[in-house]
Amino acid sequence: MAVPFRRTGKTAKRLRRTHFKLSVTGLNTCPHCGTMIRSHHVCPKCGFYDGKQVVAVPEVDTKALEAKKAKKTVKKAEKPDKLILLRKG
Ligand SMILES: [Zn+2]
Repeated sequence: MAVPFRRTGKTAKRLRRTHFKLSVTGLNTCPHCGTMIRSHHVCPKCGFYDGKQVVAVPEVDTKALEAKKAKKTVKKAEKPDKLILLRKG
């Protein structure tokens, strides 16, 4: 077995390891919803693969998103009332 003549220094070791990086795998856009998905995988957002609904996506997430949106719109509607109240007081 070959044995190194001298130990590898800190700098040489660190310079060598600067090339050890994780690369992003090939990402494609989902043709149904447009989110970034891994190629040859079912879209996690809409459950489509090859133009067909393959996996049923739970509707709880979409309902929660709708509720959040509704809250935001309510807040926007409340803001003018508060301003009017402040002006009165
Ligand atoms: Zn999708």
